[in-house]
Amino acid sequence: MKKLAILGATGSIGASTVSVCRSNPGLYEITLLVASTSVDKMFALCQEFTPRYVAMSCNRATLQLRELLKNANLPSQVLDNEQELLQLLAGEEVDAVMAAIVGAAGLKTTLAAVDAGKEIFLANKEALVMSGALFINAVKKSGAKLWPVDSEHNAIYQALSPRLQNTIGACDLPGEGVSKILLTGSGGPFLEKPLAEFSSITPAQAIKHPNWSMGNKISIDSATMMNKGLEYIEARWLFNADKAQLQVVIHPQSVIHSMVQYKDGSVIAQMGNPDMRIPIAYVMGGEQRIESGGGFFDFFSTANFSFAEPDFTRYPCLKLAIDACFEGQQSTTILNAANEVAVAAFLQKKIKFTQIGQLVERVLNCAGGASIESIEHLLEIDALARLNAGEIIKRDYLC
Ligand code: NAD
Ligand code: MG
Repeated sequence: MKKLAILGATGSIGASTVSVCRSNPGLYEITLLVASTSVDKMFALCQEFTPRYVAMSCNRATLQLRELLKNANLPSQVLDNEQELLQLLAGEEVDAVMAAIVGAAGLKTTLAAVDAGKEIFLANKEALVMSGALFINAVKKSGAKLWPVDSEHNAIYQALSPRLQNTIGACDLPGEGVSKILLTGSGGPFLEKPLAEFSSITPAQAIKHPNWSMGNKISIDSATMMNKGLEYIEARWLFNADKAQLQVVIHPQSVIHSMVQYKDGSVIAQMGNPDMRIPIAYVMGGEQRIESGGGFFDFFSTANFSFAEPDFTRYPCLKLAIDACFEGQQSTTILNAANEVAVAAFLQKKIKFTQIGQLVERVLNCAGGASIESIEHLLEIDALARLNAGEIIKRDYLC
């Protein structure tokens, strides 16, 4: 049995991962679970899976969980600090890692597993977006096996030849006859909403995605389509794609999860229910298809498939991300950091929905697009962008 660590175990992707484990007993032994504050959910996971190790990033949660485990006589050991966690991820207790912490908070742990050459199931797109070439170079250096979990990138991966699948991060797309990657997105809950009503959109409205059930941050990113922008950058790095090889296509039904167009005019699409257990089962199965629990898509109960080009006046965040993608590493690091601050502020009702894109644009305008040579430099740029975003909110935006 392969030893699995789930980073972000109590979240939406964490729950889907655990569900795939339940559907396939005997495939993985869960040795490490990591989360932030959700003590009750983590305790329930410990009761069910008795992982050898658990880590909570919040100190209070660490103490509470330790107490609960002790009272229940459960053997899972709660780690003391991040250093212990990073060591464990690099050691023999872990073969494969589901990287599903949300946001930049997942970068260090994911990179620790990459550096140690583990098998990486990558859901945490922000880690790749913020570190780009540094991340891909670390994968190349260690020989880590990188599997895309994000449904679009998983779909693209499935539509590529084995040669391209085996050179993730350094794909020669034209060499294998690929002309374009078609990245599909539903357009989120506001595809038809009059633009004049955008400034009064509430967090509760924005979180309600029409097709997917996901964590709060990615749900807001889907409503602004920053999510598709982050995925555009993610695709650039995973598949070594240039601007002419990437196109965003609105497909409101979320049945086609993305497509690859070849030079002979063939288009290969991956389809299925909008259920993350399907791409998760694909990566966890490795060479073999396994049960996902995601069900089978019913072609006879679906009215139509439709497609449209994205309208950037409706989705300014998507345009910002596409522009930042080829400007240099600083731009995508700043874009990601400013967006995280903006989304958190919107969820706390400190700024309006329309101010998310405005804020990201203003923070991007504060800096150039120079390259970033080290993780330390990257974290400095990230921190500065967050500071700038926080100051702009305080000064100009507070609702
Ligand atoms: P979520 O908010 O539901 O869960 C986030 C998880 O991360 C939780 O377990 C939380 O405890 C943990 N976490 C947060 N901060 C942490 C920290 N500092 N240290 C340790 N753990 C921490 O989010 P989600 O929807 O599951 O998304 C997770 C990631 O997967 C995101 O990067 C998202 O973009 C990506 N993703 C999600 C989906 C989806 O359908 N939910 C699809 C594709 C990609
Ligand atoms: Mg996605």
